[in-house]
Amino acid sequence: MNQNLYSRLSSHFPKDLSRTFIETADATLYSYSDLVAISGRIARLMSDLGVEKGDRVAVQVEKSPEAIFLYLACVRIGAIYLPLNTAYKESEVSYFLGDAEPKLVVCRPASETAITPIAKSAGVGQVLTLGQQVDGTLIEHSKDLDPEVGCIDSQADDVAAILYTSGTTGRSKGAMLSHRNLASNTETLHKLWGFQPNDVLLHALPIFHTHGLFVATNCVLLNGGKILFLNKFDADKMIELMPRATVMMGVPTFYTRLLTDVRFTAEVCSKMRLFISGSAPLLEETFGEFQARTGHTILERYGMTETNMNTSNPLDGERRAGTVGFPLPDVEVRVADDEGHILGANETGVLEVKGPNVFRGYWRMPEKTASEFRQDGFFITGDVAKIDERGYVHIVGRAKDLIISGGFNVYPKEIELCVDAIEGVGESAVIGLPHPDFGEAVMAVVTCKNSAALNAQGIIDAVKNDLANFKVPKRVVFLDELPRNSMGKVQKNVLRETYKDSFNA
Ligand code: AMP
Repeated sequence: MNQNLYSRLSSHFPKDLSRTFIETADATLYSYSDLVAISGRIARLMSDLGVEKGDRVAVQVEKSPEAIFLYLACVRIGAIYLPLNTAYKESEVSYFLGDAEPKLVVCRPASETAITPIAKSAGVGQVLTLGQQVDGTLIEHSKDLDPEVGCIDSQADDVAAILYTSGTTGRSKGAMLSHRNLASNTETLHKLWGFQPNDVLLHALPIFHTHGLFVATNCVLLNGGKILFLNKFDADKMIELMPRATVMMGVPTFYTRLLTDVRFTAEVCSKMRLFISGSAPLLEETFGEFQARTGHTILERYGMTETNMNTSNPLDGERRAGTVGFPLPDVEVRVADDEGHILGANETGVLEVKGPNVFRGYWRMPEKTASEFRQDGFFITGDVAKIDERGYVHIVGRAKDLIISGGFNVYPKEIELCVDAIEGVGESAVIGLPHPDFGEAVMAVVTCKNSAALNAQGIIDAVKNDLANFKVPKRVVFLDELPRNSMGKVQKNVLRETYKDSFNA
């Protein structure tokens, strides 16, 4: 059997290919036969330009249905799809092109002048463009080509995509994801989350990241279902379209933003069967507020670029706030200490995972790859976690965010939960900063709810009763908003940089 991801997905396309795959915000419809034809023409163009199996195709474009078809076109010819965050600046793109050595780069029409010389100096043969209005040279040069392309034979371990990790510490690394990694995870999630052909997914996530590109898009493709496609999160549009949707996948900020809008009601969600959250921790408060407002219990799941999805709260059964649920049926997880000793229930350590979802390694970094796997094949995620007695996984934070103050380990999440529980606090981020006596000292960055008047000493006094002294923040600062990246993750590295001299001055 052909293990190519496209071949595995397309065997589930609807018999009637005239059924809608994508409906855009301005109500343009793309059927499954459009998907097959447009991706076929783009595949033909790339083959004509000499793109072959295993060649990388780097893509930095705005979200559009054509960008999805470009992804599928790459998969069909066995080229390695390499999407780049649209926020990356030219110097960053230059690093990625030099590292990945793609055969073809597809960029936004407005970036062509800037990207072309960068691509040339990285030895890239071709630069094409793709805009959001069905425009750009990719479309112009492919629109009259023969769409009959088929799908190349691939082995399960052939690389289908490279996604660069966000690289908040050190160089960004290219995670190689195979056809097996992507297909197995989609098949597992599709079943676990009960996808049906009549599901309609509200899609407002970016498509340069695993969440919007693979989890959301592939689950629908495996189903022959439909996507209501928004180019970005837009509360007005979400509320307008939601009465026609059955599933939404979002990052936690989608949920907090929807909750600030009084028009977002249970009525708006009347056809919805499932709200899924991931990519960053969902606050228990958001979970509770959402339940109270809509009657729906958000299903939180956990994954990362390197592993696709690893755990999920159940579709049927208790979805527990503050947890990311159970390991997926074909995924093994365990918590270990730094030396690799496996820890018991409720003990905190680093989460390790193994399964068909786990990536092939970092592009051209065999040593880095080897150092992140245990002898028995488990991948060391770098996330600090515990597994409770009922088997629910709790993510406590990133290992690199662990604070060691006066020789004691401090897990930021524990302090954040205490601070968040204080009346008037919106949310908090706890970081460790260099300190002359303690090595590192704990600092809390806090946002307030609208009218709350809080002060630093009030926060410190409030948490003192519940936390050992070494965990109590030595300093508290207030911000209007925590800095977040496009996936809703709090950028603790930005906070650490901003406040790095707080205790050394
Ligand atoms: P990325 O590779 O950009 O998808 O980031 C993966 C990281 O996001 C993981 O290693 C976790 O630190 C974090 N993450 C993803 N989902 C969750 C979640 N549900 N709760 C807490 N952290 C999460």
